[in-house]
Amino acid sequence: MTDDCDSLPIILCRCGFELLFVPDVQVMGQAIEKHALEHAKKYRLTQEQTESLKDYLVSQAFKLAFKKLKQ
Ligand SMILES: [Zn+2]
Repeated sequence: MTDDCDSLPIILCRCGFELLFVPDVQVMGQAIEKHALEHAKKYRLTQEQTESLKDYLVSQAFKLAFKKLKQ
């Protein structure tokens, strides 16, 4: 087993914002929701674009979660 926990898992938003990955679905969901709202305001996203951004962030979170499971 390799010990490479020196880098914290980060979810990178399309705007470059870094969301810290937490292995708690509820906390992660809230963080994504919060950033999606801020992002939507900043970039004047439509409802549809905001939903697609959320989907994107959620899928990034799942990818990280699977990566962690495989380690
Ligand atoms: Zn963003």
